Amino acid sequence: MLALVKPRPGPGLVLQDVPEPVLGINDVLIRVHKTGICGTDLHIDAWDAWAARTIHPPRIVGHEFVGEIVEVGSNVADFHPGDLVSGEGHVVCGRCRHCLAGRRHLCANTIGLGVERDGAFAELVALPITNIWHHWPGIDEEIAAIFDPFGNAVHTALAFPVLGEDVLISGAGPTGLMATAVVRHAGARHIVVNEPNAYRRDLAMRMGATVAVDPLERDLRQTFEGLDMVEGFDVALEMSGNAAALKAAIGAMAHGGAIALLGIPVGEIALDVNDIVFKSLTLRGIYGREMYETWYKMTVMLQSGLDIRPAITHRFEFRDFEAAFAAARQGDSGKVIMDWTT
Ligand code: NAD
Ligand code: ZN
Repeated sequence: MLALVKPRPGPGLVLQDVPEPVLGINDVLIRVHKTGICGTDLHIDAWDAWAARTIHPPRIVGHEFVGEIVEVGSNVADFHPGDLVSGEGHVVCGRCRHCLAGRRHLCANTIGLGVERDGAFAELVALPITNIWHHWPGIDEEIAAIFDPFGNAVHTALAFPVLGEDVLISGAGPTGLMATAVVRHAGARHIVVNEPNAYRRDLAMRMGATVAVDPLERDLRQTFEGLDMVEGFDVALEMSGNAAALKAAIGAMAHGGAIALLGIPVGEIALDVNDIVFKSLTLRGIYGREMYETWYKMTVMLQSGLDIRPAITHRFEFRDFEAAFAAARQGDSGKVIMDWTT
């Protein structure tokens, strides 16, 4: 089969003919239809310090996908050839305290698809049934392809109640864009999106933002007056990984506010803890998605009118992966999809 591989340490990815995955008794084999490119894939392609530390080539990359089951392991009864499925990209241990208690998103022994095990940028991928989400009828395949990052957006957006609240979203990458639509769907009053890229600010407005602010031009507090905001934001979603954005968010929170942290900074961030203490702020880290409550919520929100399609801006055939990665790398894009059926 063809797969997109990091063949050896160093920059770049190669489309290679590789052996088909070996199917374990509890696994399903999936013919991949569509995949989404994640920032993680860009890091692995570029071979930055994180990738050099984490990836052991040769490795098939990619974890955002939708496909059709073509074969099931001998122990599998609940999944069948023809099922349209996506994969939860975190393969957990199943034996630790959190896994046993059903809090699998908190497993400390998580193995990442396309990171620590061979991934989904391939014609076929195998995964244990514990990591398979069987899509409900009527879910669009392109949306299904990005359920994994959509799950990050939903898990973060719903970390704190947003009904009637004023919400700040820092960073309008694909995740911040999807979160904007989710927070709007969930009944926020105002949504202020902070994003230096003009193309992404436009997309944020299409996703339901009240205002999209360029942090290089305008201080967040300057938005308050026009929005009848008195003290600051009730909830903030940190989706940029940027130190200045986090500091600006803390400075613009109302007392008692809550910040969900999804963005992954490249290094340490120095914060004045006084701001957190005296405002009685809650800061909560978010990693991945809840298995499978977030997946359920994504599905029912789509059924009840949530529309995240404007967040998908570019589509390529998998053979044009270099163009697809270039589109994802340069800032003027939302989510980039690759089609593996051509
Ligand atoms: P992205 O890099 O496409 O988006 C980040 C956005 O932040 C960019 O549009 C960038 O222009 C913007 N930004 C830069 N400086 C800013 C500033 N000062 N103020 C406001 N915005 C600023 O990333 P993405 O794919 O949308 O993911 C969002 C973040 O979440 C990334 O940091 C990513 O690494 C992280 N992530 C975390 C998890 C997790 O499980 N915790 C999973 C996936 C992604
Ligand atoms: Zn575990």
